[in-house]
Amino acid sequence: MKIETKCVQEGYKPKNGEPRVLPIYQSTTYKYDSADYMGKLFDLEAEGFFYTRLANPTVACVEEKIAKLEGGVGAMMTSAGQAATLIAVMTIAGAGDHIVCSAAVYGGTFNLLGVTLKKFGINVTFVDPDAELSVLEEAIRPETKAVLGETIANPALNVLDIEKFAALAHNHNIPLIVDNTFATPILCRPIEYGADIVIHSTSKYMDGHAVSLGGVIVDGGCFKWEGNEKFPEFNIPDDSYHGVTYAKDFGNAAFITKARAQLMRDLGSAPSPQNAFLLNLGLETLHLRMPCHSSNALKVAKYLENNEKITWINYPGLESSKYKKLVDKYLPNGASGVISFGIKGGREACIKFLDSLKLAAIVTHVADARTCALHPASTTHRQMTDEQLIAGGISPDLVRFSVGIENADDIIADIEQALSEI
Ligand SMILES: *Cc1c(COP(=O)(O)O)cnc(C)c1O
Repeated sequence: MKIETKCVQEGYKPKNGEPRVLPIYQSTTYKYDSADYMGKLFDLEAEGFFYTRLANPTVACVEEKIAKLEGGVGAMMTSAGQAATLIAVMTIAGAGDHIVCSAAVYGGTFNLLGVTLKKFGINVTFVDPDAELSVLEEAIRPETKAVLGETIANPALNVLDIEKFAALAHNHNIPLIVDNTFATPILCRPIEYGADIVIHSTSKYMDGHAVSLGGVIVDGGCFKWEGNEKFPEFNIPDDSYHGVTYAKDFGNAAFITKARAQLMRDLGSAPSPQNAFLLNLGLETLHLRMPCHSSNALKVAKYLENNEKITWINYPGLESSKYKKLVDKYLPNGASGVISFGIKGGREACIKFLDSLKLAAIVTHVADARTCALHPASTTHRQMTDEQLIAGGISPDLVRFSVGIENADDIIADIEQALSEI
C-alpha cells in the first residue's frame, strides 16, 4: 500500500458484521474465561488485553497505523508528546548515562533533558546540529546511550541531516531517536535514513485539528540490542517482568516491548481511547493536509521574502534557505507549514501586526488546520529581556507563523492588511 492508502486503511480492519468505523473501547479492563489464560497474558506469552494502562483495542489500532506509516515494527502511544520523549529516552538510559541532543529542539524537550532528566542522573550534551560529523563526535562519551534530533526543529526550523546523525550514533553502537513531529511520515520517514526510533507529538499535524494531546514512539526494529554490552537491561532477565530478556525474547521489537512493559506500566502516561479515536480521524486526512500546509507555507514565505516590511525570513522550503539541499534530500514533497520571520520596527511592530491579524489567530499552538501566529517576545517568553532573548536564539522581532490549510491568497491578504497597520 502507498502511504495515502495507509493513512485511510491501516490499523483497524473490521471482520464480517463488525462496525465499519474504529470503535471507542471505553473500558479499563477485559474479561477472560480462565485464570490460566490470563496468567499467560501477564507473562507476555499470549496476545490480548488486560488493562488499558498497558494496551487497549482502540489505541492498538492507531498504534498499528502509525507504525505502518513510519515503516516501523511497532508503536506505543502516550498521553502527550512529552511522555513519548521521556519514555523513549528512559527505556535506553538511566542514572550515570549520557545523551547527545541537537540544541535545535522543542523547548519542552530541552527542559526535559537538560533539567528534569538531569535530576534523575541522566546527563545531556546539546550540540549544534549543523556541525560537521567530526565535531559532533567530540560530544560522545563512553556512557553515551543515544543521540536525539528533530527532522524540522520547532521553532528554529533547522533541517536535520538524519544520515549524519545516524552515522554519529551507529559509529558508537547506540541508537538515533528522531522527533518527526513537524515533518510527519507524509513528508519524511526518518527510519529510511537510519533512525532507530521515531517519536512524535501527535498533538500537532497528526491530530491536525488541535483537539487532543498525544504522543507516540515508533520502533524501527533495526537496532541490534542483542549482545550489545552498552545495553545490559536488554540482555539480562527482567525480574520485574517475569524474567523476560527483551533482546532475546522479542527480537526486533525488543525496544518497544521494554518501553511498554517497564515504563508504561510504571509511569502510566497512557492515552485515552477517545483521544486515540480522534487521532485516527486526523490521520485519515494527513496525506491531504501536509502537502497543502507545505505549498501554502511556501507561497506565504515567497510573499514575505519580497516584502519591504520584513527584515528576515526563515522557511526551509525557500530556494534561498541554507537548508535547501537537505530539504531536497529529506523533504522533497514539502517543508511543512511553519515559518518564522522578523518585522521592521521590532517588538512594537510585531505586537501591532499580531493584533491586526483577522484570519490568523494568536495561539501558543502550532501545526493545525487553522492559520495561527505567535510573538514569543511578548507572550511565551515575555519575562526575558531583549538581550536574554537574543542569547536564546529568539530575536525580539521574531514572529512564528503556522500556515493552515485555508486558501493561500486569503492568508496572504490577511498578512498584507496587518502589515499595513504598522
Ligand atoms: C509540541 C512538541 C512536543 C511536545 O508534545 P506535547 O504533545 O505538547 O506534549 C515535542 N516535540 C515537538 C517537536 C513538539 O512540537
